[in-house]
Amino acid sequence: MNTSDTKNPGVRVRFAPSPTGDPHVGNVRTAIFTWLFARHNSGNFILRIEDTDQTRKIAGSVERIFDTLSWMGLDWDEGPDLGGPFQPYTQSERLNLYACYAEKLIETGHAYKCFCSTERLQELRNNNRKNPDFTGYDRKCRDLDNSSEKVSNQKDFVVRFAMPKEGITDFNDLIRGDLSFDNRLQGDFVILKSDGFPTYHLAHIVDDYKMEISHVIRSEEWLSSVPKHIQIYRAFGWEMPDLAHLPTINAPDKTKLSKRHGATSALEFRELGYLPHSLFNFLSLLGWSLDGSTELFSVNDLVEKFSLERVSKSPAIFDIEKLNWMNGHYIRQLTDNELTDHLISYWDEHNPEFFSGKPDKQRVLKIVPLIRDRLKTLVDAAPLVTFFFKDDFSYEVSELIQSGLNDSDTQNILTLVLEKINQVNSFDSESLEIELRALAKSSGYKVGQVLGVIRVATSGLKVSPPLFGSLEILGKDRVISDIQKAKRILSRPN
Ligand code: GLU
Repeated sequence: MNTSDTKNPGVRVRFAPSPTGDPHVGNVRTAIFTWLFARHNSGNFILRIEDTDQTRKIAGSVERIFDTLSWMGLDWDEGPDLGGPFQPYTQSERLNLYACYAEKLIETGHAYKCFCSTERLQELRNNNRKNPDFTGYDRKCRDLDNSSEKVSNQKDFVVRFAMPKEGITDFNDLIRGDLSFDNRLQGDFVILKSDGFPTYHLAHIVDDYKMEISHVIRSEEWLSSVPKHIQIYRAFGWEMPDLAHLPTINAPDKTKLSKRHGATSALEFRELGYLPHSLFNFLSLLGWSLDGSTELFSVNDLVEKFSLERVSKSPAIFDIEKLNWMNGHYIRQLTDNELTDHLISYWDEHNPEFFSGKPDKQRVLKIVPLIRDRLKTLVDAAPLVTFFFKDDFSYEVSELIQSGLNDSDTQNILTLVLEKINQVNSFDSESLEIELRALAKSSGYKVGQVLGVIRVATSGLKVSPPLFGSLEILGKDRVISDIQKAKRILSRPN
């Protein structure tokens, strides 16, 4: 067994998603742990697409899997797009191989063709609803003579694995320790379907063996199928990889994390403005911890420190508040230049109207210091900055008129501000602050009232990024036109 301080470059691990939609954060957590284990050991991380259940396949999913892994920085060494020594890496392109291995199991008496109709199977299930020992099939075809003419001429069949009818299958899981299961509870399960596609049970074992996988790291939901898998390995006489089953991910209400708790796919979190590293760090703590207290890790730290020994058996809790906190933290850690790049690529996708063509990086670089401390996610930025990119923002007259003032006070203030703005020599935030505060003091109004009018007139917001820095970025011409617009709006008859 591998320990955290010894490297094992012979490690070959795989992430084997099914293309049934956008990768769920639970799958992404599996990908992260598997990747960390590979990189920690200087081993190989393999991507394999498990698309044998054609009914659950969703178009575009494979691209979304690539996209998710790439966004998270989880690079793979072999895979459907890269190829590798054991290609192809998509199961639907390996059907002959599975058929051939199913045939071998039939020849050695470990599997058999089953000709039972779906109606019969349904009837069996209906009749056995209350029977606790019933495992889904009564083994009617198990003892048929497969070489007889009647059997070999029939085309419509599935292949079932002949499970031992009794006994115990025991094994060691790297996370859960020694486990044992009663064979009687497994039943004779299907390994090859009537359409010629294998089931997951057969396909992943053939692939893990052929691809020389050393460790299988996957979610707990597969744990109860392990006895089936062990029996298949034994039937072939193949050595098994080590197994590690990761704990489930629950919502804070202790139920399995699902759509009703909010976003569940990694790409949804990207849409919602989370940084990839925040999600990476957050997911790496769902079931693993270094010392029970350290929470913030760089990718390099995680690669160095990760070990399966420190993965817990108990369910992990997906606490969105913690993710929000982490994201705010990592946003603040970014340099202005890095945050600018993140915002530009986010806005390019979600707010293309900000740039109408080519993003103006220099302008965003100036805006970023004004807003960075207010962001928990990248989404939070757009409402704060729209006015920098669009001068047709709107507001209610009532928002322009500050508390304690009336229309004509506000009109007076706008006139004074307009005069002052026209006079100022240098339009930088320090000079503007000195000039406009002095103006406010001498105007007879409160400083907050005067600045409040300027704020709403130039941004449309009651709470905006720091005023003087914003004015400098907007520039003199734009500020003048905003003040003139406010005067016009105010003088309109109600
Ligand atoms: N295709 C399976 C899934 O998406 C993989 C299970 C495994 O890793 O063995 O859950």
